Amino acid sequence: MLPDIEKLLALQLADKEIRKLQEEIAALPGRVAAIEAKLAGTRAHLEKTRAAAKADDANRKKFEATIQDLQGKISKYRDQSLDVKTNEQYKALLHEIQFAEQEIRINEDRILEVMVDAEVREKEVKAAEAELKAETAEIEQEKEEARRVTAADQQKLAEWNAQRDGLRQGIAPDLLRHYERVARFRGSGLAEALDHKCMGCQVMLRPQTYNEVRNGEQVVVCESCQRILYFDPAHEVKAENAAEIAHVRRRPRPKADAAQAWFYRPDYPEEGEVLMVFVNRGDTAVRRIYEMHTGRQFGDVLLREGTYRLAFPEDLTDSAIRLNGHWEEEEMDAWGVEIPSDALDVLHKDLLAANRERHAPTHKERSAASAEHTAAS
Ligand SMILES: [Zn+2]
Repeated sequence: MLPDIEKLLALQLADKEIRKLQEEIAALPGRVAAIEAKLAGTRAHLEKTRAAAKADDANRKKFEATIQDLQGKISKYRDQSLDVKTNEQYKALLHEIQFAEQEIRINEDRILEVMVDAEVREKEVKAAEAELKAETAEIEQEKEEARRVTAADQQKLAEWNAQRDGLRQGIAPDLLRHYERVARFRGSGLAEALDHKCMGCQVMLRPQTYNEVRNGEQVVVCESCQRILYFDPAHEVKAENAAEIAHVRRRPRPKADAAQAWFYRPDYPEEGEVLMVFVNRGDTAVRRIYEMHTGRQFGDVLLREGTYRLAFPEDLTDSAIRLNGHWEEEEMDAWGVEIPSDALDVLHKDLLAANRERHAPTHKERSAASAEHTAAS
């Protein structure tokens, strides 16, 4: 392998680590904010409970004051009763006293109610205080952990950045520019040449190109995706084994009733090779179409009534091959106008496996062939 290619491989690894660390660091403030929001909720609950206890206390005082007033009135009536002249007047005063006594009993009952409530409230306040205390401690710990992770990430990031800068200096400027341009556009600037294909875009390489990459004497780029190609002899052996194994181990069969279904079609009008994805959303079906090799979306996201098999019959011709693959719709929306290379890889690999499966002899055919072979020898 060319030394420059080796450095580019190391650079690609560094770029990937740097991206991962940057994303992790960027996500941390959000995590801390979520933790603090939870704490604020617990604090609000405690304050509400305390306010309720305070209101109970105020009510109790009000009832006590009312009782005192009533008792004052009663003793006044009693004083007056000493001076009354007629039986009628006496009866009227007695009636007033009885009424005040009844009012006192009502207020005493109210006080009793409030006092029973107060016990419950007190327990509630104590529980809320304990919860807040435990949560505060927990949150401090979580924040500390977040700070620790960020610091560690930042240190790792600095190390990777230094390594990246060192690697960049050792690579021919033209090659580096090409790598960065392709990486910016496609997410990766390097691709392995394996099984006569560019693993970045899954396009077959011309035999001469493939041999040039294998020889490792010059820089070769994929004509289709422009990624810089490299060859790893260790993988080639594995690829051959994988092809063997693929005959034995079947690929998982896509579920016929899945709400999301991916298809490959080699003969889409105008566009040629495409990947199509249908999603059943209740009474409607949604379709997205992408160019097979670049993963670029074309046409609008189409919505029709009915499940996708009924809604898009013209797309599901006999040439359509059902593929394994599932992503959340939100994630697909986030892709924008291009399937990211990792998702595209999954689909390409499954298509390869599906094609192998279609062209592989069945078990019966293989047994027949070996029987013939035995008979001939
Ligand atoms: Zn390519």
